[in-house]
Amino acid sequence: YTSILDRFFHHAEHRADAPAFDLPDGRSRSYADIASTVRRIAARLVADGVAPGDRVAMQVDKSPEAIALYLATQQIGAVFLPLNTAYTGAEVDYFLTDAEPAVLVCAPDRADDYRSRTAGLVVETLGTDGDGSLLAGSLPERTDVHAAARDEPAAILYTSGTTGRSKGAVLTQENLSSNCDALRELWQYSPTDRLIHALPIFHVHGLFVAANLTLTTGARMHFLPRFDTDAVIDLLPDSTVLMGVPTFYTRLLADARFTRERTESMRLFISGSAPLLAADHRAFAERTGQAILERYGMTETGMNTSNPYDGPRKPGTVGFPLPGVELRIVDAESGHPVADGETGIIEVRGPNVFAGYWQMPEKTAAEFRPDGFFITGDVARRDDDGYVCIVGREKDMVISGGFNVYPIEIEELLDAHPSVTESAVIGVPHPDLGEAVVAVVVPAPGQTPDAAELLASIGDRLARFKQPRAVRTVDALPRNVMGKVQKAQLRAQFAELFR
Ligand code: ATP
Ligand code: MG
Repeated sequence: YTSILDRFFHHAEHRADAPAFDLPDGRSRSYADIASTVRRIAARLVADGVAPGDRVAMQVDKSPEAIALYLATQQIGAVFLPLNTAYTGAEVDYFLTDAEPAVLVCAPDRADDYRSRTAGLVVETLGTDGDGSLLAGSLPERTDVHAAARDEPAAILYTSGTTGRSKGAVLTQENLSSNCDALRELWQYSPTDRLIHALPIFHVHGLFVAANLTLTTGARMHFLPRFDTDAVIDLLPDSTVLMGVPTFYTRLLADARFTRERTESMRLFISGSAPLLAADHRAFAERTGQAILERYGMTETGMNTSNPYDGPRKPGTVGFPLPGVELRIVDAESGHPVADGETGIIEVRGPNVFAGYWQMPEKTAAEFRPDGFFITGDVARRDDDGYVCIVGREKDMVISGGFNVYPIEIEELLDAHPSVTESAVIGVPHPDLGEAVVAVVVPAPGQTPDAAELLASIGDRLARFKQPRAVRTVDALPRNVMGKVQKAQLRAQFAELFR
């Protein structure tokens, strides 16, 4: 096994001048340049008292230095802990109390707040231009590299908090390197690739898929602060790969400048983190002549499945398990594998599966089977060709009058109606049924969906118990930065509907 850091340092040594980061202002940063920044930050962290196994938290906007900070934690054997930049001070308190980092690196304008909140915490600052205390002064470069064992923790990433409070997933060196190696091979990632990196770096997608893959392969990336349609459209002719969440593709498709000619140098469009609408998949293929490659992963496991690189990439599916990843679909109650084509819970086992939830031994134990399979909580079935199709989350399943209702089945019918752009189906408390099915819809431009007409149009295709008891219209579905629909927020918003 070769660690992420070793692969990165290898390129820094052998292809020193090769560019790693291309920034919006036209500057580039080479592998050697970033490696030197990594070694300087490593020296700073050691001077701050960070020892192997200590957590180093980071809450800063994207920059090459922020990635260098991640690599520096690896150099000294510390555990990297990135935090969502949207969290307020009060929210960050939870993570600081939970993970007890030795150092927090934050934006310069937030340092005073954090210093006053947590006694004894060392607070360093890092701005988007490499400014701040972390790289201030003439730091020596640290040359020692901690020799990490494969089962040593490399990072703690907090889950997105879609279904409840975020949990810290402890990821090992081998988790990161095995997943990265599998993806490099599968997606034929090479040193000539040029990625458009428009994702945040505090989640698996932007950090461990996009950045790890690029920096361990010796490729380069256009490093954007965030997704911006204009910027991405500008960069397409100068790029080969885009990794995105579904909303990236919805936005690109809504822009007339996004054409087949624009995407001619692109060889791969990847989507994940949330379900890609099958309609967008088809519209994209029509527009560009290329099929989006959808894959499925989670904080706890990195990537689990991917559509094929060579071979059909099927809309509405997430493809096959990655090499080395075992995946089974089981009945929630019995834990036995379901028959082919039946719906059940996805369980996975492999070198990608995390060590456990940080300081939650009971929660960890509850999410693993005795034979080592991790219970993902995602509901899926296999289609006739063996492709995995995600149906939803166990926690989003509605139990109405004792019957299980999977929202996606109803959402697909609603989405197909001309007056609807998209929809979210939720369960809300109901005196008779336990939960009632409620449809929340976003109108198509210029349309006003009529509840009775909408329900009539889908009525003949749905069993009575699946039919929504109410339809509510909203301007937009609540989404987080990864494009995930926040159903918990909708359930809270409509909780009183039948009370
Ligand atoms: P929490 O675990 O805190 O409730 P979360 O599960 O949203 O939040 P993440 O680990 O960021 O946190 O997201 C992983 C989840 O995202 C998966 O379990 C799955 O439900 C969903 N997901 C990822 N990729 C896809 C995809 N291609 N299609 C459908 N769902 C996906
Ligand atoms: Mg989850």
